[in-house]
Amino acid sequence: MPKITVALDGYSSCGKSTTAKLVARQLHYAYIDTGAMYRAVTLYFCQNHISHTNPREVQKALDEIHISFRRHPESGSNDTFLNGLNVEDEIRKMYVSDRVSEVSTVAEVRHAMVAQQQRMGKSKGIVMDGRDIGTVVFPQAELKIFMTSDVMVRAHRRQEELLAKGELVGIEEVIENIRKRDYIDTNRTESPLRQAEDAILIDNTLMTVDEQVDLVVRLADERIGQAIRRREEA
Ligand code: C5P
Repeated sequence: MPKITVALDGYSSCGKSTTAKLVARQLHYAYIDTGAMYRAVTLYFCQNHISHTNPREVQKALDEIHISFRRHPESGSNDTFLNGLNVEDEIRKMYVSDRVSEVSTVAEVRHAMVAQQQRMGKSKGIVMDGRDIGTVVFPQAELKIFMTSDVMVRAHRRQEELLAKGELVGIEEVIENIRKRDYIDTNRTESPLRQAEDAILIDNTLMTVDEQVDLVVRLADERIGQAIRRREEA
């Protein structure tokens, strides 16, 4: 069975990770949350007082940062590790969300993350979510999805996620963070967030998670079918 690459991009907190994770499970593919990688870099910058505007400090920090994903033995979740430590919960906190988009504008940070992402996905059979997967990381991906949804719906989902992890954040603060990250992500010079020309737009404002997952899996199956036909014709 030929394997494909599924690139899932879109705005902050519109359910990309939830969808990508479940799609990967159904396809028996690996799942990579690239936002977690930028969050891990940001956490390192916060903990080590690195200024993202100082190129020397940034380069030195990048040389010392090792990010990996490991399956949690009990929950089965794919946790993010920074230099050997499980930082999955820490990177989701608001102080990291507040700084991550600024850190993600730095060209050196992006180049290091993109190189690692390309290595992780070089054998295909991967679902990767982020902001530049279909445009920069895997421009040849067989399936590209661009997700969006109403900002209020996104804010309420994000607020619930934070609450579930014990962080109570007012809805206004959540909305402001989402808008700020979307603005920085869309307007940065280095690989800004934009819909790839050949990406399929999914507005999930009125969709359930199951509906989104079914839609993406159906599209992936179509692309796998095309890959099979191409192989047979060759
Ligand atoms: O996906 P998540 O919301 O966790 O991503 C956190 C932040 O990381 C985004 O707001 C964006 O600034 C940055 N990011 C990025 N490129 C990616 C993934 C995430 O710039 N491929």
